[in-house]
Amino acid sequence: MRPDRLNPLFVPADSLKGVGATLARPLERLGLTRVKDFAYHLPDRFVERRAVADLDEASVGDNIVIALTPVDYRTSPGRGPLRVLAQDAAGNICAVTYFGRNSGWGKKQLPLGEQRWVAGRLDQYGQMLQIVHPDHVAPDSAALLGQLTEPVYPLSEGLTQGRTAALISQALETVPELPEWIEPGLADKMHWPHWRDALMLSHKGEHPAARDRLAYDELLANSLALLLVKNANRAHVGTPLQGDGQLRAKLNLPFALTGAQIRSIAEIEGDIAQSAPMLRLLQGDVGSGKTAVAVEAMLIAVEAGAQAALLAPTEILARQHYDTISRMLAPTGVTIALLTGRDKGRAREAILMGLLDGSIQIAIGTHAIFQDAVAYKNLALVVIDEQHRFGVSQRLMLAQKGKRTPHCLAMTATPIPRTLTLAQYGEMDVSRIDEMPPGRQPIDTRVVALERIGDVIGALDRHLASGQQAYWVCPMVRELEREDIAAAEARYAELKSRFGDTVALVHGQLRPDAKDAAMERFVRGEAKLLVATTVIEVGVDVPAATLMVIEQAERFGLAQLHQLRGRVGRGAEQSTCLLLRGSILSETAKRRLALMRETQDGFRIAEEDLDLRGGGELLGTRQSGDAAFRVASLEQIQRLLPIAHDDARLLIERDGGLKGERGEAARLLLYLFERDWGVQLLRGG
Ligand code: ADP
Ligand code: MG
Repeated sequence: MRPDRLNPLFVPADSLKGVGATLARPLERLGLTRVKDFAYHLPDRFVERRAVADLDEASVGDNIVIALTPVDYRTSPGRGPLRVLAQDAAGNICAVTYFGRNSGWGKKQLPLGEQRWVAGRLDQYGQMLQIVHPDHVAPDSAALLGQLTEPVYPLSEGLTQGRTAALISQALETVPELPEWIEPGLADKMHWPHWRDALMLSHKGEHPAARDRLAYDELLANSLALLLVKNANRAHVGTPLQGDGQLRAKLNLPFALTGAQIRSIAEIEGDIAQSAPMLRLLQGDVGSGKTAVAVEAMLIAVEAGAQAALLAPTEILARQHYDTISRMLAPTGVTIALLTGRDKGRAREAILMGLLDGSIQIAIGTHAIFQDAVAYKNLALVVIDEQHRFGVSQRLMLAQKGKRTPHCLAMTATPIPRTLTLAQYGEMDVSRIDEMPPGRQPIDTRVVALERIGDVIGALDRHLASGQQAYWVCPMVRELEREDIAAAEARYAELKSRFGDTVALVHGQLRPDAKDAAMERFVRGEAKLLVATTVIEVGVDVPAATLMVIEQAERFGLAQLHQLRGRVGRGAEQSTCLLLRGSILSETAKRRLALMRETQDGFRIAEEDLDLRGGGELLGTRQSGDAAFRVASLEQIQRLLPIAHDDARLLIERDGGLKGERGEAARLLLYLFERDWGVQLLRGG
């Protein structure tokens, strides 16, 4: 249970004065639902204003505070602006301008003949100086001169700066003092203020040390939680697995393993020979051969007399794995079954029986393989494919049943930079497949202007006529899925009118069976062209698909472009990727596309992606929907995470139960950042 002293921070937003039905939506869009969210809604930047006695002291472009006396209203006919002509102390005249429907408001703010203090940015309008829509107008100077530095907050539609700032200061008033969870020596060395002071300072002005401290808190909470998972996992008992190599020797692999595959298998073999359950992440680019590694690992379990299961994120991928792995296992005589949510009746019963009596040695499926009704005789290894979401292992640990914890191998094709691996998978040991199987032809990647879409369709026509398949990924219109689908449907209709029934469409709103059916037509080669939004499955393997067209490629992130391109280049044929770009490109977009042309190395792309995105962006806010970090920027993650991780490790080594004084404070931190599953595990372990 959350400690009481944190309660004021978790009070719902509507307890703040002024939050009602109208503000609820805009606030929710910004993730501001509890008092603590307001306290942590940090300014993007600050406006620095200068108080001036008269206009002669100011230049165009300055943010100023000045006393003005309105002398005349100038209105233009129709819906034109209201210009309030106003005089400064030296007798200079400037205009304070209100556009549109705000003119009534302007007259109210600036009554003729009465001095007002005005804060705003000085502009030029013809020969005249003007301030358009002043930030503040007040009858006396105190409020404006007292806050010459003003925060600028991220907003959403329906919210103003003033309103947001007022709610945030209300929230800050209720923020309690909390004990220090950072190592005192470190806080001193970094000149970091205490938590509450750091929050206050971060809203008042540029204060890098305060911002760093808040970011560090978040990183420390994250590392602590992950390490608690690791610790709890170590306290569990797994089954030590040692194979005799007999089954592995019979495996039907039509190729020699790469050095990186052999190394990864050895690392896994070492882990699972221990009784502490393995928590290992296998990172390897699309096509690097993770499946073979998983199969070798599962065979060790079978050789040791236990069962293994492979969990895939979708039915299609489960079936595809089942087909490939069955083929590999054919000479070994190992029994394997596919279990998905769709299996019903007799067939399902038979599989459940087989898992229970151990006659099925390897299970492949979707999450259905972990449902309550499914019991195993002795499941000792679980492989989770394409699990690039935060929190693999704690979910697994909650899902586990029985006395013994299975070893866990998570596989991801998302190459992430080393620092971020620590942030997202800090509780796991990592194996990297950083070498591609030999003989891969590089994918011919080209950037083509959208105006040349006619040529592209011509090339597509020749491509399909030669019997090969292709993907067409539709633009990311906005972050609204509905619009993406509309764009995909329009493109689909157009391509279908040209290429007929060989075109299939998949997008996120199709019913699962309709989506599967379309995908299967493509996998079987009945459909030659697959039009898709970005939901196109990670991991789908169609070697005959050798052309990838990505529309409005400039709107995609590097990681996503790389993933999409990885759909092709999986067979022996030369593959092509056409990146269709719009006419207006930002500098970053240009560099992204250039990098795509230049390299196919996922790890390099990931590192450069991190550089290109720079310090402002938060990790995970866009990509996954569940933001891993709300406070720390990428730059802060890179700089501070290694320190936080070491600090967390030291703390846990000294006080694994978080019982000492600092440990207690660290518990508060875990609740504050809602990583309290870490604390829950403490109780169990
Ligand atoms: P991943 O799951 O990592 O994206 P896969 O396991 O699906 O990659 O492998 C991609 C392709 O490469 C498959 O067709 C597989 O048979 C092939 N492959 C895997 N390992 C090797 C290897 N060592 N040499 C040659 N081909 C390989
Ligand atoms: Mg795979």
